[in-house]
Amino acid sequence: MPQEISRRALIELSVAGAAALAAAEAKALDRPTLPKDQKIGFAVVGLGKLSQGQIIPGLRTARSARLVALVSGHPDKARRIAAAEGLPDDAIYSYEDYDRIAKDPRIQVVYIVLPNGMHAEYTIRALKAGKHVLCEKPMANSVPECEAMIAAARAANRKLMIAYRCHYEPKNLEAMRRVRSGALGKPRLVVTDMGRQADPSDPSDVWRLDRKLGGDGALADMGIYGINAARYLLNEEPVEVRAWSSTDKQDPRFRTVDDMVCWQFRFPSGAIANGSTSFNYNATMAFELWGEKARLRADPGCFYGGNRLALVSGGNFRELDIAEIDQFAREMDWMADVVRGKAPLVSTGEEGLQDMRLITAIIESAAKGGATIKTDWGYKRAVDPAAVVDVVA
Ligand code: NDP
Repeated sequence: MPQEISRRALIELSVAGAAALAAAEAKALDRPTLPKDQKIGFAVVGLGKLSQGQIIPGLRTARSARLVALVSGHPDKARRIAAAEGLPDDAIYSYEDYDRIAKDPRIQVVYIVLPNGMHAEYTIRALKAGKHVLCEKPMANSVPECEAMIAAARAANRKLMIAYRCHYEPKNLEAMRRVRSGALGKPRLVVTDMGRQADPSDPSDVWRLDRKLGGDGALADMGIYGINAARYLLNEEPVEVRAWSSTDKQDPRFRTVDDMVCWQFRFPSGAIANGSTSFNYNATMAFELWGEKARLRADPGCFYGGNRLALVSGGNFRELDIAEIDQFAREMDWMADVVRGKAPLVSTGEEGLQDMRLITAIIESAAKGGATIKTDWGYKRAVDPAAVVDVVA
């Protein structure tokens, strides 16, 4: 029988402590693996670092999702991966014959793992082919692209999910639940720092340093985790932003994109979030939330693994013991469960659009030397991850 945990029980668990939550998470993850023929078939589009390092391995262990097709511009690489994953040759598509997926009943979900500037086109083509889409973050490179993707999903009556893996990661969920439980007191301040050194000798970074494919540089690649984290930790939307950027234009990496951007969000509750991102500082994915009574510190907080979450109260620093999971398998299982009608869509297209609007506002403010930009567009998250992830069987 699938595991059910009520929202009330989760809140109690949050208050009761991390050990109990970890046990409940483990139990919830103990849901049975579906027989192969009942698993939702995923096509992976773009066989780069993330696909080969995390997504395809994640699909091997996923409970309700499985790999059924590959889309690539490099047939030799695709054939090698297909052979290793036990896929037939007719499960390989190129970008040119991609639209033929419409006639392939093995494929139910298309997972877009391409450079950011290609997300909109390949998402819309998949939706037009009648497939559901899981699209990597950032959703696209501009607000109009995001809006077109949402409209295409609506027109095709298909699901569109954005791959915000932290919405499904136990330590991030525990942080959200502790904030929601009131145990930290009223949330006052969030600080997020998400960046790294970009390496122009790595092909995966070459496109990230090219505005046409990578969009807004570090902000789109890494800063987006902090923008999203401030919003999911506080479960509210910023009404104002101010931002500043600092880029060494002599550095050949920054010919078309900005390097460091720092911003400040003001929220209706009175909370403030400070964010930073850079392609030229030491690798960091950290967040911290100060409540009136206690503080949560996650450093690192959003890596693929090895994240740490601590509760700090006065001089008392206590690291919470929460089990690691395969974040990618979990996220793809969630998408598969959405398609099976067993889980609500959490990381919606509208959620990706909100981040893109905020990225645009940050860039505008930074270009105007820190001018205040109003960001109260009336968006309200439809589903709080803290309330549902691992609640729905
Ligand atoms: P890579 O550069 O490693 O892979 C992208 C792949 O896209 C390439 O290998 C290639 O696959 C295909 N591609 C098609 N056209 C181009 C082109 N013009 N230039 C470069 N590649 C092209 O990138 P990543 O795997 O690191 O990132 C892919 C996406 O995943 C991005 O949107 C990124 O933001 C996101 N991402 C998300 C992470 C997360 O934690 N959620 C972590 C890392 C990345 P082929 O040769 O098969 O055609």
